[in-house]
Amino acid sequence: MTGSNKGIGYAIVRGLCKQFDGDVYLTSRKDDLGKEAIKSLNSEGLSPKFHQLDITDQASIGRLKDFLQKTYGGLDILVNNAGIAYKLNSTAPFAEQAEVTIKTNYFGTLAVCEALFPLLRPHARVVNVSSMVSTFVIRRCSEEVKSKFLNNKLSVAELTNLMKDFIHATKNDSHKRKGYPSSAYGMSKVGVSVLTEIQHRLLSADPREDIVINSCCPGYVDTDMTSHKGHKTIDQGADTPLYLALLPPGTKSPNGNFVSERKITQSF
Ligand code: NAP
Repeated sequence: MTGSNKGIGYAIVRGLCKQFDGDVYLTSRKDDLGKEAIKSLNSEGLSPKFHQLDITDQASIGRLKDFLQKTYGGLDILVNNAGIAYKLNSTAPFAEQAEVTIKTNYFGTLAVCEALFPLLRPHARVVNVSSMVSTFVIRRCSEEVKSKFLNNKLSVAELTNLMKDFIHATKNDSHKRKGYPSSAYGMSKVGVSVLTEIQHRLLSADPREDIVINSCCPGYVDTDMTSHKGHKTIDQGADTPLYLALLPPGTKSPNGNFVSERKITQSF
């Protein structure tokens, strides 16, 4: 579980501790916040384990990978939940918001996947927490940009180039002219949703059997990210990610989909 010292990630760990028969790792970029979260779950009689993980720090990702490899030799469930969003009233320049948000939400998630996918065991489940915002934002792209994202032969490298092109365009304020919308968070989650579809294609051709990957929206949840305006509790927000993380062996669908309220949603 990435980004699980608070919010939806914390509730996903709580749910996994209750429903998954194996060791569950709460990870956090800050040791103290992660350990406090562990204590709080311990007080509910739950026993997650802790490992530090900053998804923007390659060395931190590498340490987690080595630890998992050495301790377990594999991984059964990966939930990519860690994410950031600037507040709507942020005065940070848009180019900065684009670069920083995509660095965490897209490049961080991708880096974790690249490091940990080799550890996935047959029947593993991967959940990429995206957002419904990605579905609104892709519709606001020009037809030309949209067709690039929706090309069903798109590679990870080509998707990464699209994300870089967007960031680059925000720096000289040409992103609108190039057909991109002005939503840093939305574009970062377009990246996560499209990445999931590509990863599904790659994992389907993988010799390891029955690895299922989906992206999802947790709904509008009462967390720090939403300044506590969301109407769902963190446990309600964790419901769809947990459902996807615990899909039974042999699941054919959902797989490679964008899921909201436990239902496959037309992503774009
Ligand atoms: P949150 O309460 O702000 O929690 C975000 C978590 O991600 C925190 O644990 C945070 O750690 C962690 N994080 C941020 N950057 C990180 C990094 N570089 N490395 C590791 N961890 C990092 O947000 P949330 O609402 O629970 O959001 C969880 C996920 O759901 C996000 O991907 C978000 O985009 C998505 N989502 C949320 C909503 C909603 O309504 N809340 C809706 C749609 C999608 P720190 O405590 O150290 O900052």
